[in-house]
Amino acid sequence: MPKFEWAKWVWHKFLPKKISLCMWKAVFGCLSVDSQVRRLGIALAFGCNCCLRRQVETLEHVLGKGDFAVEVWKMASAEFRVPFVPQQGWQQRVQVWFNRATRQSQLGTLLGLFPSVLVWRLWNRRCMARMEDRAESVREVWCSIKYWVPILASQIVKVQRLSIMDEYILRILNVPIVEKSRVQIKVLRWVKPRLGCLKLNLDGSCVGNPSLAGGWVASEL
Ligand SMILES: [Zn+2]
Repeated sequence: MPKFEWAKWVWHKFLPKKISLCMWKAVFGCLSVDSQVRRLGIALAFGCNCCLRRQVETLEHVLGKGDFAVEVWKMASAEFRVPFVPQQGWQQRVQVWFNRATRQSQLGTLLGLFPSVLVWRLWNRRCMARMEDRAESVREVWCSIKYWVPILASQIVKVQRLSIMDEYILRILNVPIVEKSRVQIKVLRWVKPRLGCLKLNLDGSCVGNPSLAGGWVASEL
């Protein structure tokens, strides 16, 4: 298989496997959009299920450039403060999110997890419209995507970075903020042993000492 650059986010342990699998299938062109089925020689008279005037259904249309997908991406970008470029394809959009993702911060982790949820939910909406004749609105889909934000966020318990901007965005998303883990500072000092006692260093503190070291014998001198 070709190297999967997005693996660390797509197969992240916080994501349910059904979401990771859907994203993986999308990346490797394994989702059964019309254009893909036609390529296998099966004639189809369908069109997309997301536009008023049906258009040719390609993966790009369903996940990236179709009006429905554009609206959902636009909402997500506005809320997470990620730049949005209308002409971008779905993979480019995901890349923009992944470029900002980092495991060191709470928001950064959410930025790495969220694109997979969004792609999965767009595909889910398409399948529901196609198989069950139930066409959800942009608002419905967006609300159900947002439902995942606190679920994913609740699994993040340790962060190293929290900027003021991150805090602001997390508050808008209604996510409980995980405080930075504080570094505990302890003052240590070496105490001279009592008379007649030995104290052995175990921490390599004799490194660089030209003579024998590592032990200290207390004497009256
Ligand atoms: Zn459409």
